Amino acid sequence: LGLTLRLVSFAGGFGRVEGDDTVVPMGRDLVEYLETGQAVEGEAATRASLDLLAPVPRPGKVVCIGYNYRDHAVESEVAVPEEPILFAKFANSVVGPGAPIVVPSETNEPDYEAELAVVIGRVARRVREEDALEYVAGYTCANDVSARDLQLRVSQWTRGKAIDTFLPLGPWLVTRDEIPDPHALAIGCALNGKTMQSSNTEQMVFGVAELVSFLSRTMTLQPGDVIATGTPPGVGFMRKPPVYLQNGDEVTIEIERVGALTNPVQRAG
Ligand code: ZN
Repeated sequence: LGLTLRLVSFAGGFGRVEGDDTVVPMGRDLVEYLETGQAVEGEAATRASLDLLAPVPRPGKVVCIGYNYRDHAVESEVAVPEEPILFAKFANSVVGPGAPIVVPSETNEPDYEAELAVVIGRVARRVREEDALEYVAGYTCANDVSARDLQLRVSQWTRGKAIDTFLPLGPWLVTRDEIPDPHALAIGCALNGKTMQSSNTEQMVFGVAELVSFLSRTMTLQPGDVIATGTPPGVGFMRKPPVYLQNGDEVTIEIERVGALTNPVQRAG
């Protein structure tokens, strides 16, 4: 798109953020905009007056990468992977900034994971690593919320990962031009204001271009698809004693140059 933008989706449309609090509407569908580059400007509104959603509220695919930080692999006492480890989340997990993470009664071990999320901007099929960043629309913050008990008592992680509301994304999509090097960003998670994760995307085992190229060799990536690129150390279940999300907690994922994504935690009633 060739422009530096912070794009938000809200109920009924999407737009760009100007300054701290102004949103200029640009049309109905952010993903359609990524595909066509066509926008129709509307009347500016305050962010607070809009019902903000995840930048991509219904991604076609959410591909998550396991053990993709060297420092997290060390913490977890697993070997640094030789090729990317994939698992999936689905659109049912996606919520926007400020929306509650609703924890079902089936888990007692809900945990946070700060992640840099990549949003695909163009159809990518068998792209070369050196071209791969051209297929990236931009970046946003993700919280790959995980129910550790459900995740780890079986070999397939889907049940513990693909839970409703367990993938906050936001607060906006920062276009790629704003972030020339996605592997030089401070990334962290704060729980009720206390720092729990603090690392840098330089610790990634497989970088953004490598992941896009790798994935595109066996699955066609579509505009609006999301890649959650893995989490650094400090996750709750590795701590001694473990720390799990509680009703009333507030979790913030913050990534340098991208933004901060805050969500409250709610036990399902
Ligand atoms: Zn993760």
